[in-house]
Amino acid sequence: MAVLPGATLGILGGGQLGRMFALDAKRMSYRVAVLEPSKDSPCGQIADHVITAPYTDEKGLRELADKSDVLTYEFENVDAKAVEFLEGLGKPVHPSSKVLRITQDRILEKTFALNANIPVTAFAAIRSGEDLENGMTAVGFPAFLKTSRGGYDGKGQVRIENADEGRKAFANFSGVDLILEGLVPFEKEISIVAARRQDGYFSAYPPSENVHVRNILDLSLHPARISNSTASAAYNIAFKVGEGLGIVGTFCVEIFVLSDGSLMMNEIAPRPHNSGHATIDACLCSQFEQQVRAICGLPLGSTELLRSAAMINLIGTGEGNRLDGVEQLLAAPDASLHLYGKSEAPKGRKMGHFTVLANSADIAEKRARELQKQLKWV
Ligand code: AMP
Repeated sequence: MAVLPGATLGILGGGQLGRMFALDAKRMSYRVAVLEPSKDSPCGQIADHVITAPYTDEKGLRELADKSDVLTYEFENVDAKAVEFLEGLGKPVHPSSKVLRITQDRILEKTFALNANIPVTAFAAIRSGEDLENGMTAVGFPAFLKTSRGGYDGKGQVRIENADEGRKAFANFSGVDLILEGLVPFEKEISIVAARRQDGYFSAYPPSENVHVRNILDLSLHPARISNSTASAAYNIAFKVGEGLGIVGTFCVEIFVLSDGSLMMNEIAPRPHNSGHATIDACLCSQFEQQVRAICGLPLGSTELLRSAAMINLIGTGEGNRLDGVEQLLAAPDASLHLYGKSEAPKGRKMGHFTVLANSADIAEKRARELQKQLKWV
């Protein structure tokens, strides 16, 4: 049974992804309830019901479930136990706690990919000094040693060039599960945002091409400048991920493109993704509206890219909380500004983004870079 407009959608996590989900949900006449520990959160500013509690607080979770007809979450470092608890209360939660458990753990995620015939780099689970020695022999160098859980935006990972560096890095990580991954000599990083309904209906946006600066997404270009066969291989990976995990909702698969055009999966995000924000301005149905549609069992919307687009993240530098140059950006007829309602802009914090529309990805990129230069945190 479809959950129709007028119903209440519950969301665990009150960050910018929740905010953009809530904005689209409200446009469609849904009500939104959010559970988030911090006050005045980006999503809390938009939601109809705000529950201020830790993600694991049973009373808060129960209140969220009571208010909601269907539930989702907006970031994958929510404790899977909280999602299991919500499931136990009998309300539908999409994606399921099983999806969350796998996608928040790099070892489980890469093992899933291997079993689903999705190409991934050589990897080894590292839980002891012995695992490390065996893993370094099997994987070789250069490699990345990463925490299996809890890492994001490049946090919790170290590049290692030899066994000594591996042992040093291992000692510094003290006791958490790790994964050793062979370095992928990629030419490009792309991602594909897709959505799947409970009945298996699947749809994906064209892949985007992503540029990271200090491990944080800086620019996403739509469509990615890749061949049709590479794009359809990415589509196949996303389909296998959605089907294999039984995901219901919008999700994203980050993929490395090698120089011969072959692909290797990097990560899965079981939610809308930063690299899909341009779908708000460049598609009839954004990745957030698609999330609403998918979790509510409604027809999925169009994923057609109506124009080429470039999205630039506005990241705090720690130098100030005011974005200088906003008026110049607003004067640009080809750009759209999105700010997330955060008052403090410490270094590395995602404060907003802007999207430029153009007739080709090359033009969008050039124009976005010009506009980016005019903006500064002061
Ligand atoms: P992750 O948090 O795993 O997405 O890593 C953040 C970024 O580090 C990726 O977007 C890549 O640019 C780089 N990276 C991570 N793992 C690898 C790898 N195995 N090979 C090459 N680059 C990687």
